[in-house]
Order: sequence, then structure tokens, then C-alpha cells
Amino acid sequence: MTCTDFLSKLTDYFDGRVPADLLVEVEAHICQCKHCEVVLDSTTKTINIYRDHELYDFPPDLRTRLHSSIMERCVPHK
Ligand SMILES: [Zn+2]
Repeated sequence: MTCTDFLSKLTDYFDGRVPADLLVEVEAHICQCKHCEVVLDSTTKTINIYRDHELYDFPPDLRTRLHSSIMERCVPHK
């Protein structure tokens, strides 16, 4: 997956519409690419701001699930 691929999937990613097999590739790319990690992080923050103003219907547990699944893949197991 390239950065362009990642960015094209970003909205689907936040909508939870990325299929499981592709989600693995997306998460793998985030682990490898600092740039996209930052993009994802800032997008998450932006969505949270919208969410605080109730302009964006975002499932409350999605951010937590995203975060834990990313951390699971990125943090080396002891
Ligand atoms: Zn990238």
C-alpha cells in the first residue's frame, strides 16, 4: 500500500467501511509510515472536534477500537 492508497481509504477507514483484509494493509502502512501515522492522528483529532460539536456521527467506541488494534500491531510483543 502506498501513501496515496492509504489516503484514498482514509474516509472509509473512519466510517468503518474498510474490509478486514484491506484493514490489515492500512494498519501495516500506518506502522511503517510516519507521515500517514501523523495524518491519521490529526484526522482523528479533527473528527473528535466535530464529534464534540455533534456534527459528525461517529461511533463512540470506534476510536478506542482503532487505537487498540493499531497498538496491537505496532508495539512489539515482549
Ligand atoms: Zn504513508
